[in-house]
Amino acid sequence: MSLNPNDGYIAYIINPKSGASSGKTMVREFKDYLTAGGYDVRTSFTHSLSHAAELAGQSGADSDCAMIVAGGGDGTVREIVHGLEGSDKPILIIPGGTENLLANELGFDEKTKTLIKAFEGDCIRPLDLGNANGKCFTSIAGFGFDADVVKRVMDTRQGHINHLDYFWPVWRTFWGHRFPELNIAVDDEDIYEGPCLVFVGNISRYAVGLQILHYADYGDGLLDVCIYKCKSRLRLAKHSLMTVLKMHPGRKDVIYKQGKVIHVSSPDAKVYSQFDGDPGPALPITIELVPRAVHMVVPPNAKPAGIRTRFIRMLG
Ligand SMILES: [Mg+2]
Repeated sequence: MSLNPNDGYIAYIINPKSGASSGKTMVREFKDYLTAGGYDVRTSFTHSLSHAAELAGQSGADSDCAMIVAGGGDGTVREIVHGLEGSDKPILIIPGGTENLLANELGFDEKTKTLIKAFEGDCIRPLDLGNANGKCFTSIAGFGFDADVVKRVMDTRQGHINHLDYFWPVWRTFWGHRFPELNIAVDDEDIYEGPCLVFVGNISRYAVGLQILHYADYGDGLLDVCIYKCKSRLRLAKHSLMTVLKMHPGRKDVIYKQGKVIHVSSPDAKVYSQFDGDPGPALPITIELVPRAVHMVVPPNAKPAGIRTRFIRMLG
């Protein structure tokens, strides 16, 4: 990125509560690297999500600030990016959460040397954002099954969560889920009406590296939509297998679309939504794309990690 120490200071916005120990090590090591290189690094710790957005907004408005480093999980990163919407200052992520969906998509892993490669490289990419009923998200939204899982996890959440915290909620949701009817419109065209699972987003890979939105590009000005027609557990199991095998787009019971405005509603009560792994607003929801909202520093030639790599990392 060829940032010069004279260009301005680096705002280091860190969530001190984000869980992964690899994240904490990277926060320390990368700061040491920058300081040794003569950069003026100014650290602030976030105490809430809205505080993260506020700190980011201040850095974005400060002409002495040359770059923003966002250290935390998907929630913290989302709020920092949201606070910088419309700014052309480069943002670099230090992944510190459980899933790190966005960081993974941008090609980051758990190594400080990848951060340094990104910083020293010359690769800045625009990132689109999603706006759902006025609420910002960066990565992926879900309606139906996975939103039920997220709700169960959050209802029992105590502090930091890890992958195992999802096991029983997934299991219980699998046996109890009732596959609500959903109506989906893409750019004012009705696409589907019926029982299904729906994913809308910016990034190709979801939890544990599942490539649900196969064709998604986070800077192409389009949201990807994947609708799995589904009203039984057997069908859900089949969809899951096909997704693991990356064979779901093009199947008869899957609809894959791209667009700029997505509308999701339901005749059923109690249909949940999730955005970037957090519970979302009640339906109906209109999702609009905010094109090239921010600029991200990414490792040159990096690719998102798939299921196998994520699984190995999870086992540590
Ligand atoms: Mg896109």
